[in-house]
Amino acid sequence: MLGLYVHVPFCSAICNYCNFNRGLFDPGLKERYVTALVTEIAGSGDGSPADTIFFGGGTPSLLEPSDVAAVIGACRESWCMAPDSEVTLEANPETVTPERLAGFRRAGVNRLSYGVQSFRDDELGRLSRLHSAGRAVEAFHMARSEGFDNISLDLMMWLPQQTVAHWLESVDRLIELGPDHASMYLLEIYPNAPLRDAMARGQWSLAPDDDAAEMYLSGLDRMDEAGYVQYEISNVSRPGRYSRHNVKYWTDGEWLGFGCGAHSTRGGVRWKNVSATEDYVAAVAAGRSTATDIRPLSPEERLEDALFTGLRLNAGLDLAAVSDRYGVDVWARYGGDLQPFVDQGVLFYDGRSLRLPRAGMLVAHEIMTVFIR
Ligand code: SF4
Repeated sequence: MLGLYVHVPFCSAICNYCNFNRGLFDPGLKERYVTALVTEIAGSGDGSPADTIFFGGGTPSLLEPSDVAAVIGACRESWCMAPDSEVTLEANPETVTPERLAGFRRAGVNRLSYGVQSFRDDELGRLSRLHSAGRAVEAFHMARSEGFDNISLDLMMWLPQQTVAHWLESVDRLIELGPDHASMYLLEIYPNAPLRDAMARGQWSLAPDDDAAEMYLSGLDRMDEAGYVQYEISNVSRPGRYSRHNVKYWTDGEWLGFGCGAHSTRGGVRWKNVSATEDYVAAVAAGRSTATDIRPLSPEERLEDALFTGLRLNAGLDLAAVSDRYGVDVWARYGGDLQPFVDQGVLFYDGRSLRLPRAGMLVAHEIMTVFIR
């Protein structure tokens, strides 16, 4: 079934490390943007079955519950939404109140994903985040009180000045709260990020690479001990509570993206909406297509994608399934280049599947370059 992604490009402030497609919140533009979203969704629907909606951003929780209801309503009218669809809203802790959360639930949101990043105020301050650790805890409890039984928390590791012990403090606080899902990413600082200047001014440094590896492995160990199941390089969940939407990206699924800069992949074709918010709104208002970079995927690209994304999952790649779908014997084609990784113990191969153990997840990029021809 299709997954539907809805991009919300507004934020209350721009974080110093952020490289997403976003801008400052502007109430007038937000109104016009929501109208454009509803129009785009209504114009695209062909009634095909879909079972996930994911509001990502930006900060989707800056929308009013009535905006979210209008967008979900457009999805339901245009697509055949499964009754048990997963409807996720990304939220920043400082934006929620009990009333807004209750409104989002009434609108049809049944999964919240909070961008917490850290449970230490000094680390949040260095990242120029607007919330405190206390506010994140409060936002979590508020969501539980309003009936959200599917909550994900995002944490980032390898932050400026962060030690392994600091990182594990955040992991422990997360475990105490007991969300249903957690994402744990390594902070990547892009070349012109304002955070680089802030680091130079503050003389903040990053822990050595070995510590970053230790953060990753020890954080996941703690999540294991707490009963979470890792299902993807950066994602863990309570049994069965994985992100149904995101799994579509990693299992060769199909999805449609609405809103500025959103990507879509369907029927072997990939495209992207215009990136600038104003351009997107103007195109929809004028009845023009918002799609750019429309590209049929070659069989080779589809295979590469399937190999890249499949290996991100703990379940690994089922080689018979890849062979059925793409007519390629993966081991015959890549085995010579993959064998050294198998010998080092960073890749498991048992004749039927390929899978990364945790040590291999640390060097996943290196292993995956084998698939680029
Ligand atoms: S809240 Fe998220 S999307 Fe917005 S600026 Fe910060 S990191 Fe970027």
